[in-house]
Amino acid sequence: MTAHPPSAPLGDGTRAVRAGLPEPVKNEPPLPGPVFAAHFHLPGDVEGPYTYGRDSNPTWTLLERAVAELEAPGDESAETVVFASGMAAVSAVLLSRSRAGDIVVLPDDGYQALPLVRARLEAYGVEVRTAPTADDAQLDVLEGARLLWLETPSNPGLDVCDVRRLAEAAHAGGALVAVDNTLATPLGQRPLELGADFSVASGTKGLTGHGDLLLGHVTCRDPQLAADIRHWRKIVGAVPGPMEAWLAHRSLATLQLRTHRQWDNALAVAEALAGRPEVTGLRYPGLPGDPSHQRAARQMWGYGSVVSFTLPDRAHAERFLAALELVEDATSFGGVRSTAERRGRWGGDAVAEGFVRFSAGAEDTADLVADVLRGLDIAAT
Ligand SMILES: *Cc1c(COP(=O)(O)O)cnc(C)c1O
Repeated sequence: MTAHPPSAPLGDGTRAVRAGLPEPVKNEPPLPGPVFAAHFHLPGDVEGPYTYGRDSNPTWTLLERAVAELEAPGDESAETVVFASGMAAVSAVLLSRSRAGDIVVLPDDGYQALPLVRARLEAYGVEVRTAPTADDAQLDVLEGARLLWLETPSNPGLDVCDVRRLAEAAHAGGALVAVDNTLATPLGQRPLELGADFSVASGTKGLTGHGDLLLGHVTCRDPQLAADIRHWRKIVGAVPGPMEAWLAHRSLATLQLRTHRQWDNALAVAEALAGRPEVTGLRYPGLPGDPSHQRAARQMWGYGSVVSFTLPDRAHAERFLAALELVEDATSFGGVRSTAERRGRWGGDAVAEGFVRFSAGAEDTADLVADVLRGLDIAAT
């Protein structure tokens, strides 16, 4: 490899294909395969990077470097800790940083498992306050808080808050700030550069993008915060398998190709939906008229693959989903194959019966838009 740093900042595609690769070694593969080990040879004193498989693993190390490079390009101090799932990463930050008597501020429209974490925090004696993501409303409940949790864009409502503004206010009051960056991926948004202390995400969604594994990650710049998160992972043992970690790293090479196509497809689908009288409550932060657009444009590099909208009622939404041929009726989002679901079937989210969360995949744009319009036509009759 070159001995000189590149003269200009590298583009997303270049960074994605190279992320976390080790220095080339003659006769070795560019991305070493998964290391399956519960323990490592350890004669004598306990020293060196790899001792026991719950503490560390070389396949995680490479993936952690890759995600850190994407979350904080050019920042050598950024450190990522990978987890077995997004919720393992989310609860690592929320549970490890909170003590009885602390005040934690959550969004009231975040991921559907957040209220479960809230109940756990309250059981431990933590005071939890919530406010909507929209209009930076969490600013109003920050007084005395130790930790502010943001989710932007929020899932599934797609509201956006101003991370810089909220982080500044939280820091002024002595609180740490975490952002759930799942929907955007590190190519769409870089929370640490916007002032957050933690960027947390589910790698199950767009980061890995193939709907075949669960993963989570936490990235921060402060070595003590990172060490605390690593320590928490060791205690709860929420570790990813080496195979999942390796598949995730392999998937990162196509992150830019996938996300850019998905963002283009999401915008095209949103534009097609905008022309339909039966569609209400259409949300996509990339649409110039969307209530989230101004804030999103100031802090995001791409607006994500998720579009949400409401059809007249449950039966109409079910007819639409059944009529789609290129879009699978399934939960989750961010995958290469488009998916959509009637979110109300889960309960838990405050959404209408006809509310649909649509995740644009990497299909050809014209094919996907044609399928959506055809599905709407069938559902309308
Ligand atoms: C899916 C998701 C999570 C949880 O991730 P898992 O990998 O399913 O545990 C957390 N936050 C957001 C915004 C999500 O979409």
